[in-house]
Amino acid sequence: MIIGGGPGGNAAATWAARLGAEVTMIEREIVGGAAHLLDCIPSKAMIATGGAMSATKRFAGMGIEQHDVEIDVDSLADRIGGIVARMQHNTTQLLQSQGVHIVMGEASFAGPNEVVVRSSSGETRVQGDTFVVATGSRPRIPTWVTPDGERILTTRDCYPPRVFPRSIVVVGSGVTGVEFVHMFSSFGAEVTLVVSRQQVLPGKDAEAAAALEDRFLDRGIRLLKGARAQSIVREGDEVVVSCDDGRTVRATHAVLAIGSEPNVEGLDLDAAGVVLDSRGYVAIDEHCRTNVAHIYAAGDVSGKLPLSSVASMQGRKIAEHAMGQVRSDMRVLDYDKAASAIFTQPEIADVGLAEAEAFSSGRKIRVTKVPFSSTAKALIHNDPHGFVKLISDPNTGVVLGGTIVGRHAGELISVVALAVTAHLKVADILESLLVHPSLAEALTEAAE
Ligand SMILES: Cc1cc2nc3c(=O)[nH]c(=O)nc-3n(C[C@H](O)[C@H](O)[C@H](O)COP(=O)(O)OP(=O)(O)OC[C@H]3O[C@@H](n4cnc5c(N)ncnc54)[C@H](O)[C@@H]3O)c2cc1C
Repeated sequence: MIIGGGPGGNAAATWAARLGAEVTMIEREIVGGAAHLLDCIPSKAMIATGGAMSATKRFAGMGIEQHDVEIDVDSLADRIGGIVARMQHNTTQLLQSQGVHIVMGEASFAGPNEVVVRSSSGETRVQGDTFVVATGSRPRIPTWVTPDGERILTTRDCYPPRVFPRSIVVVGSGVTGVEFVHMFSSFGAEVTLVVSRQQVLPGKDAEAAAALEDRFLDRGIRLLKGARAQSIVREGDEVVVSCDDGRTVRATHAVLAIGSEPNVEGLDLDAAGVVLDSRGYVAIDEHCRTNVAHIYAAGDVSGKLPLSSVASMQGRKIAEHAMGQVRSDMRVLDYDKAASAIFTQPEIADVGLAEAEAFSSGRKIRVTKVPFSSTAKALIHNDPHGFVKLISDPNTGVVLGGTIVGRHAGELISVVALAVTAHLKVADILESLLVHPSLAEALTEAAE
């Protein structure tokens, strides 16, 4: 029994079905996942359109005369709707092709082996011997603000866009916040980012964060550093964001990007005896098992890394564990080895050990950094910004991590992710015969 049809639930369902389980999935809103299909994918689609618009600036340096481009809100909205519908359809087809029984409705536990499913057509009770809670998360809304869906927005209110903000304040300078800054700025909005610390992207590579800030400042984005928003109110056609240091910002819109909360309300986990951790997420062990042996949890609700890729991997591992497929040579999921990307300009991606983390723990590392400007490909494409940073063990040469800043960083990091997962050495990257000209040559140079 899988509760939730996002990446976590889908992977658990399809893998368990392939391994011979009889699988039922219960989803209350959209097969494919609410956070996945109503937040992650639309935001990336809008960023891609914004990126295509700003690419005209790069083309101007490539011998192409620059033309003004205009955004067509209706066709952008159609495009986003089309992508979401296609992905919803693909996911449903995949589940059905594996024999997964899909039930639309809201599930809550009636006991350790039973859930009640409520939908417009009534209430049913379903029993199972193994359960996966994969109910995801939703945008966090602090007590000091009430989003109205019109001018005071959560991320989920932003697509498909009805109007493009003339000016917008983005509250929160983590991954989602900076992506929204980039997105609205690409569409021509005047953007202010409220940054509670002294640098955007807390916890990320400091040089990568600094490179992003520099680009934001070049684009005229205003950074309000060391300020915490403490109220957002509407005044006519404007919003006023007030910060704890007394500063205020006016704009036509404000968007909250201050994290997410687990979807646990209404699940009645108590009825099944499942406990939450101190932050309110479902507590799990290294096999994604809750304190109740036959109930697992995957995805955002488990409070590990809020990434689709991590949710899917947890789902797969759960299916293998629940179906008794765990062999000694299988890897336990290592969250420290998850690659992630920030879809801004420049794009930022990282995996494994970070430089700051190594320094704070006193671990000796070797860091090699190569700018993309040293590759022919970056010059050919008129985008020499960014760099590749490889982190390795100075004694063994094993690749421990890396950060990439620049075009296609999210794709290029896959090479480093593979190296980190498979304990490859710097020499393995160096010995790989990569394509020329390619941005990946910066990785070979770093390995050299
Ligand atoms: C703005 C934004 C951008 C993002 N960008 C990225 C990105 O670029 N890359 C990335 O990897 N991740 C990204 N993420 C994170 C990613 O979307 C989530 O980590 C991922 O969707 C988690 O999958 P999930 O299965 O846990 O949850 P979801 O995708 O939310 O699926 C959970 C499902 O459970 C259902 N559900 C909840 N309660 C019940 C119930 N009681 N009964 C039945 N069904 C229920 C919900 O309707 C939902 O469909 C982004 C998130 C946001 C908000």
